[in-house]
Amino acid sequence: MPIEQIKTLIIGGGQAGLTMSHRLKQRGLAHLVLERGRIGERWRSERWDGLRFQFPNWSVRLPDFLFPHTDPDGFATSGEIVDFIAAYAGFVAAPIRCGVAVTSLRRRDGVSGFVAETSDGPIVADNVVVATGPYQCPVVPAVLRDNIDVFQEHASRYLNPDQLPSGAVLVIGSGASGSQIAEELLRAGRRVYLSVGRHSRLPRRYRGRDLIWWLSAMGIDQTPAEQRDPSRLLPVITGAYGGHTIDFRSFAADGVTLLGRVKAVRGGIMEIAPDLADSLATGDGIHATFLDMADAHVERHGLNMPQDPAARAVLSDPLCLTEPLRRLDIGAAGIGAVIWATGYGVDFGWIDVPVLDGHGKPVHRRGITDVPGLYFLGLQWLSRLNSSFLSGVGDDAAALADHIADRSRTRQS
Ligand SMILES: Cc1cc2nc3c(=O)[nH]c(=O)nc-3n(C[C@H](O)[C@H](O)[C@H](O)COP(=O)(O)OP(=O)(O)OC[C@H]3O[C@@H](n4cnc5c(N)ncnc54)[C@H](O)[C@@H]3O)c2cc1C
Repeated sequence: MPIEQIKTLIIGGGQAGLTMSHRLKQRGLAHLVLERGRIGERWRSERWDGLRFQFPNWSVRLPDFLFPHTDPDGFATSGEIVDFIAAYAGFVAAPIRCGVAVTSLRRRDGVSGFVAETSDGPIVADNVVVATGPYQCPVVPAVLRDNIDVFQEHASRYLNPDQLPSGAVLVIGSGASGSQIAEELLRAGRRVYLSVGRHSRLPRRYRGRDLIWWLSAMGIDQTPAEQRDPSRLLPVITGAYGGHTIDFRSFAADGVTLLGRVKAVRGGIMEIAPDLADSLATGDGIHATFLDMADAHVERHGLNMPQDPAARAVLSDPLCLTEPLRRLDIGAAGIGAVIWATGYGVDFGWIDVPVLDGHGKPVHRRGITDVPGLYFLGLQWLSRLNSSFLSGVGDDAAALADHIADRSRTRQS
């Protein structure tokens, strides 16, 4: 059997892979997309039922393709995002094969190009764009996990409150996932403990506009990777229940017991770090700074926008903050389940090309590696803050498509 040869292979059929397909098609460049599951698989199988897209409907778009909606200020369900991505694949008429996994990638011997081993046989390609996602595998601290003997699940496998055994739930991690899941569980009538780490808290709306409007108006969504905040904190926001600002003091007022970071677990007892007050202060500080920046923007541009003093209101400190727990007995607290909302990592162990650093992360500049023809797309901060956002990936894809087009022209001449 002759080995299949193609010009550009795109690995991954999520928003990034499909956008790449669109950009190559626009330049008349032949390619193939391989997706190991279904189109938009992670939105189908690694998001919980109640998740809402965190950007308002008016801002949801892929290149040349707008999200259909009746409520511009509403927040889409995961199912609606899946339908949107699938419809985009149809609009692009992306040449995609689903159910085909790439199991390894290596350079060709003695000539340029790559060999991808797939579940459907090898494929040779001049160029490869790896678009396998910014959030690929759950990160859970094994040293803690192995000492807990109640039901445990990572946020990527959490579905809904009914999936969990009865009793209180401990959510570990206070990023967007942890805080949203904690709120959902509380509203479902569960007793909730939330372990809060350092976080960046941003307002959902301010002075009549949504956060996403502000990020764009102030150019923050275009912040280049070189200016990335060294703390690397991801914003805590939510689109659930109509979208609102996450405020951990308000969670506590509604009954959530806030905890500091979980340091260790021994004999069913959790040791809690004395850092809750610091973490809340960091989040509150970032929130207040953002409001100040927005006010300065209004002033600078002479915008006519209503004042919004309520956004600056700080609730009083709850008891769990003034007298924080330093130990938590899992059994005595009646905890029946632990949700790990401790983030995601990447797994590029299948790439046998010298483009990974000592931590297994790709070394690239705006998605372009030092190995000619090998590219990455859709990673966090690939080129800018919005590189891994649905509405931000299109510009990076266009830049990579231009690079591939130049490379094809050079090779032909
Ligand atoms: C809980 C959560 C909520 C989020 N909410 C938002 C939001 O509201 N707004 C927003 O803009 N962003 C959001 N994001 C971030 C981002 O938009 C999503 O992570 C999005 O799924 C990224 O799209 P992608 O195409 O880059 O990667 P993915 O959606 O991860 O797609 C990668 C695809 O590659 C496939 N694949 C992987 N390995 C292989 C292989 N070896 N061979 C073949 N196929 C492979 C996978 O099956 C998958 O379909 C969220 C992320 C998470 C985790």
